[in-house]
Amino acid sequence: MMFPWHKKASDKLDKMIEQNHMPHALLITGVEKIGKFDFTQSLIKKLLCPKASCDRCELCNALNNDDPMSELDHSVLIRRSHYPNLIYCRTELNDSGSMSKDIRVDQIRAFCESLGKTAESLQIGVVFYADQMNNNAANSLLKTLEEPRQNTLIILLAHNADRLPMTILSRCQAIHINPSYDEETAEWVAEQIDIDTRSDYDPMQLLDSAHGVPHRAIDDLKGDFYFQYQSWQNLLLEIALSPTKIKDTEIFSDNELDVLKCLQHLISEGIKIKILNHDGANLELNKVIEKSSFNHLFKLLDDTNQAISLSQTTVNMKLLLDNVLVVWSHITNLKKYPAITNFQEH
Ligand SMILES: [Zn+2]
Repeated sequence: MMFPWHKKASDKLDKMIEQNHMPHALLITGVEKIGKFDFTQSLIKKLLCPKASCDRCELCNALNNDDPMSELDHSVLIRRSHYPNLIYCRTELNDSGSMSKDIRVDQIRAFCESLGKTAESLQIGVVFYADQMNNNAANSLLKTLEEPRQNTLIILLAHNADRLPMTILSRCQAIHINPSYDEETAEWVAEQIDIDTRSDYDPMQLLDSAHGVPHRAIDDLKGDFYFQYQSWQNLLLEIALSPTKIKDTEIFSDNELDVLKCLQHLISEGIKIKILNHDGANLELNKVIEKSSFNHLFKLLDDTNQAISLSQTTVNMKLLLDNVLVVWSHITNLKKYPAITNFQEH
């Protein structure tokens, strides 16, 4: 699968492959999270898979099982792919056990040595991120770049080509992945957003705010949403434990539907805890559930579900949420479950 914003760079590569102009060294650049590694993996599939990236053959499977981005709990010089003719080099743990900022010279030496002097079929070495090589490492790589080997492709990934020495740059064919603001990319962003929350966001705006980097747009959204969700959940629990907190619900405004879903989640979790008859991880929720009756919890869950389904209509969501919250604020000491009035009008 190719990301829509990779298309231009990918077309450029396809042309090189078609015309048999693949260089000995390729430099793939682009800002953080633009997808340089995914781009590289699909290039490698294109070059090595007999069907040019079928995603089913032995090679494609081997590549799909590679996870050289993951962190190991021991230091290594290079990582071998599940495919025998492919190696990766990246920053690893240093002697003190923390992640190194640099790719060291001994790593680059091991990297160059493990690429055979002669190869029957194409061998590929990937360095990410080449702009993290220290000076000695860069010099060591330069020697290998100066004496290209048969059937060998070295791929360097870098956030910022300016941080690489000219001597290295001049020996690489560069491919740059640009940020993208086109409709296809915005569509991709929209597809990644949970279908229920999709209508709340304009994917083009998200893309704009993430400077044309789609993965960043998604991460931003998740981060922010997660944060908001947590604060809603906390306030909902406070309201159930001390009803006067119901005055402090400004943070709910314009988010009524999501807050109702948050409440729905809390009540269903609570019912589960009560059925299993043991405490859950959330101490506040445990307190609320302990003092509430099954009967009232189920009724309020029903009403919350109904409120959520009414969000498709012209109902005043704020009023609806307020009415549900009044019941929720008394859930621990309700004598009789009240009828929530808004529901009858629809
Ligand atoms: Zn394949």
